[in-house]
Amino acid sequence: MESAVFYTRVSTDSQKERKTIEYQDALAKELITNNQHFLVHEYKDEGFTGETLDREQLDKMREGARAGSFKNLYVFDLDRISRTMEEQIFVVKELMKNGIDIYTHKGKLDSNEDGKKILYITAIVAEMEKMNTLARTREAKRQKARRNVVVGHKTSTGYDYKKDWNPVTNEYVRDGRYEPNGKWKKIVNIIFDTYLDLRSIRGVTKYMQDNGYPTPMGGARWGKTTIKNILTRTDYIGTMFYNKHYSIETKSGQDRKYKKVVRTGRRLRDRKEWIGIDVPPIVDEKKYKLVQDILAKNSTNKRRNDKYKYLLTEVDKFCLLCGCRINKTPYHGVSYYKCDNKGHRFPLPRDCFAGAVKSETIDDYVWSKTADIILNPDILLAKVKDTISNHNRTLGSIDNEKSILLKEKSDLCKQSKAIVDCLTKIKDWDENAIKDLQEKLNSFYKRLRIIDEELSVLEAHHNEQSVDGCLSKKSIKDFCKLAVNSMKKFSFEDKQKFVKMILSKVDIDTVSKKIKVKIMIPSLNDNSSLLLRT
Ligand SMILES: [Zn+2]
Repeated sequence: MESAVFYTRVSTDSQKERKTIEYQDALAKELITNNQHFLVHEYKDEGFTGETLDREQLDKMREGARAGSFKNLYVFDLDRISRTMEEQIFVVKELMKNGIDIYTHKGKLDSNEDGKKILYITAIVAEMEKMNTLARTREAKRQKARRNVVVGHKTSTGYDYKKDWNPVTNEYVRDGRYEPNGKWKKIVNIIFDTYLDLRSIRGVTKYMQDNGYPTPMGGARWGKTTIKNILTRTDYIGTMFYNKHYSIETKSGQDRKYKKVVRTGRRLRDRKEWIGIDVPPIVDEKKYKLVQDILAKNSTNKRRNDKYKYLLTEVDKFCLLCGCRINKTPYHGVSYYKCDNKGHRFPLPRDCFAGAVKSETIDDYVWSKTADIILNPDILLAKVKDTISNHNRTLGSIDNEKSILLKEKSDLCKQSKAIVDCLTKIKDWDENAIKDLQEKLNSFYKRLRIIDEELSVLEAHHNEQSVDGCLSKKSIKDFCKLAVNSMKKFSFEDKQKFVKMILSKVDIDTVSKKIKVKIMIPSLNDNSSLLLRT
């Protein structure tokens, strides 16, 4: 007589299920007697779902099989082992490898239909596993975010990223969560309170430094950007956003001055594509709203108060001697540009002594140089050529991403077809197996829809980036002529707007009066931004 064990799983404590279990129990024992086997052990996992293999008794049963302590396994149905096809197959194959014969209420597994089907679809499942892992993790992250699970590695200031330890598997559970960090919750609130008090970001920066609070990175010097980021994070009132950006491959070593033109790197998604994830709030909502109101008001005030006229208001300006930003500094009714070394180094003493320069001097020089460039078709033509080649590079990376998606799409279609074939060819299929395959199929279709969406976004992008390559020297010359005439009629505001468009960076050495300007060409298909007054 051969030895036998019985395995069962009870997912709930309900009366009804108890009854079924009793029935299954009795049936198994009857089968065991009929097959002239003798029962050596009963494995029962109570209160477990079939979604996970992390079950104590299941583990013990598998151990027993490995150790050869029984020859036959009785389960009422294969779904007792697992609800998912892959795991069912995994365990069944493992048991068979250990020489175990498996019996269900339909009979012995190997020779019956279930057994054959399991082996048949093992191949398909293995094929599915080869699916593009990159795309899968990307979608998995988005799914996680939709389930309100924290994704990504960067933890916002004020929180700790926590993962729970699972003593059964002896490892951390996969999904982590945000928990307020006591110390940082306090500091974040100090920043909010101080801002409400002083109503100035610079003031908060100084306060944090004077009181010796370390920055989130552990440094001693607080930057205005850090403070502003903290004051505007929605995490603090309970919602962090995932899926805000999507990225386009950035070519390393690309000349920085064209960055604004091709806009490589991260791009902001449409607001409705953002996925909000609930996190524990750490700042009072009223306080948060009040801060946002003041921030908005201050930023409009700042523009209105700008009574001094600076041509380079919205152009990035840097000190050639120390690399710090150049600020506008009105002094006794006269406007100056001055290196911000002092503010940047604060509280350390400044280490650049470039003096202030009258803004008029710089502005006039920069404007005449800019005009020279517009007057010179050769310079402009060279820039246009560069710009086009940059556009083409971006198009290349869009095409690249597109081809990856198209490859995944065709793989998914093939696999879906294999499943459909499988579903149509076989009759009398076990209901759960069909259900599993259909679920798989649905997940494929879902992914296919997402791929199509992503493809259409890329398509739109591609069109946006497209450049008409047939710009002739003559058309450039015509354009220059038109531009010269138009520029004569420019108001100061027009000039401001124009240099903002055309200059990406201005480096100023206020000591030896050297100025370096970096020119950029605005996006060429963006006609509105190139339209000059006629
Ligand atoms: Zn400087």
